[in-house]
Amino acid sequence: MKALFLDRDGVINIDSHYVIRDEQVVLMEGILEFLREYKDLGFKLIVISNQSAVARGMATENQIHKLNDLINSKLENMIDKFYICTYHNQAKLQEYKKESYLRKPNPGMLLQAAKDFKLDFKKCFFVGDKFSDIEAGRRAGVQSIQIVNQASVIHPFAHEVASDLLGVSQAIRQALPSSPVKP
Ligand SMILES: [Mg+2]
Repeated sequence: MKALFLDRDGVINIDSHYVIRDEQVVLMEGILEFLREYKDLGFKLIVISNQSAVARGMATENQIHKLNDLINSKLENMIDKFYICTYHNQAKLQEYKKESYLRKPNPGMLLQAAKDFKLDFKKCFFVGDKFSDIEAGRRAGVQSIQIVNQASVIHPFAHEVASDLLGVSQAIRQALPSSPVKP
């Protein structure tokens, strides 16, 4: 199986710094068309998201799951699964205070998804906006495309950088193996 891994804030919805309430959910321009394109090509659509708001006591795990359900309903339920990491080494809440292998830039969530969906990382792509997204992709061995703006720290491993989802889509299409030409 192949998958398109997606960071949530800054890729699926606008990152307004700890998106935890319904009214903060504003979808990125072109996200529906973008997801449809890859769904049609047979990719699993999997969200990989750090949610330290839980560790910081700003939202409960259940609130984050509910918000992700809301986001998915706005996305015609195209997302196959949301993986979240609620841990942080500086957590306010003791039960979430740890250095987690799941938290990006570690590749734990990608590895878990690979196990759950029997994924071949060589056929997968990761779309993220932060250095830590691309680093998680590098550690797992997944090609990554970084959505950047003027303030971005570009990761040298980023397979491609793009300023919007249209650019991301062009980069992925160019990287996809083309079907063999028949003589
Ligand atoms: Mg992000």
